[in-house]
Amino acid sequence: MSITGYTRLVGIFGHPVKHTRSPAMHNAAFSCLGLDYVYLPFEVAPERLEQALRALPALRMAGVNLTIPHKERALPFLDEITPQAELIGAVNTVKVEDGRLIGYNTDGAGFVQSLKTDAGIEPKDQKVCLLGAGGAARAVAVALAMAGIRELVILNRSLARAQALAGHLAGHFPGLKVSAASFSGQEVIKECRLIINSTSVGMKESDGLLINPELIQLDTFFSDLIYTPARTKLMTAALERGAKVMNGLGMLVYQGALAFEIWTGRKAPMDIMRKELINTL
Ligand code: NAP
Repeated sequence: MSITGYTRLVGIFGHPVKHTRSPAMHNAAFSCLGLDYVYLPFEVAPERLEQALRALPALRMAGVNLTIPHKERALPFLDEITPQAELIGAVNTVKVEDGRLIGYNTDGAGFVQSLKTDAGIEPKDQKVCLLGAGGAARAVAVALAMAGIRELVILNRSLARAQALAGHLAGHFPGLKVSAASFSGQEVIKECRLIINSTSVGMKESDGLLINPELIQLDTFFSDLIYTPARTKLMTAALERGAKVMNGLGMLVYQGALAFEIWTGRKAPMDIMRKELINTL
């Protein structure tokens, strides 16, 4: 990589940001296509987020990704937000266009693309069970609703949070049947052929099983948003029940690829990005 005065800069704002794998994935993609871009991580404290975002046009940066804790906090500092990011209430990609800051959310679309392309699952008309109601759940729920699912059942530890998400979706997608319950209402899992874990339960070795795997039917697809470990205990349990499973690596690759395409206008080299990500994990 040779950096000159022509090189365009993109990056990621996070706090902390040390763990991020995005620079490796994006720099490999730039290098593969011979694009004169470089991607750097920036440790940005929450109280400096506005300043950091406002500096993007002055520095002639092409854009940034946003990660924890900036995805929701950035909204008031942007000039324009896509309808999907507005519905999700979070932005993970910012593009600088004619000095203006445009906010996108590629997390949900990345998940749906991974479901369609990697797993060969068409979400349209499905009844889906979503475990969790946090930030990732919101992105996935909105993208699934936009993809035309028939029914969404949200199960979450905090019932109030599940109900708030269900209410939000019902208000924006009148054709979608949405319900919310705590995990005591998990019997409903038997009726869903697509189950998605969007909680953080399963990341730690000490984590137990979030749901009773006996509720998972043979012809079910179980998708875990977690990618480290590559196979969570719940994925193993679902496999033992005869279900098909997928981890969150594809979502991570596709959300990155969509951001790449927003900044560069070029088709992202998916295979290179995925390979580089696997190497770093
Ligand atoms: P978040 O906003 O903090 O939400 C966390 C969710 O996990 C909430 O629903 C929370 O329930 C639930 N939870 C946490 N501890 C729990 C426990 N002990 N028992 C039951 N439920 C528990 O986090 P997030 O940003 O949505 O991230 C969630 C997961 O998605 C993480 O593992 C993250 O790595 C993954 N993720 C993956 C990708 C990808 O590209 N593959 C992208 C984004 C996120 P309460 O509401 O009751 O607290």
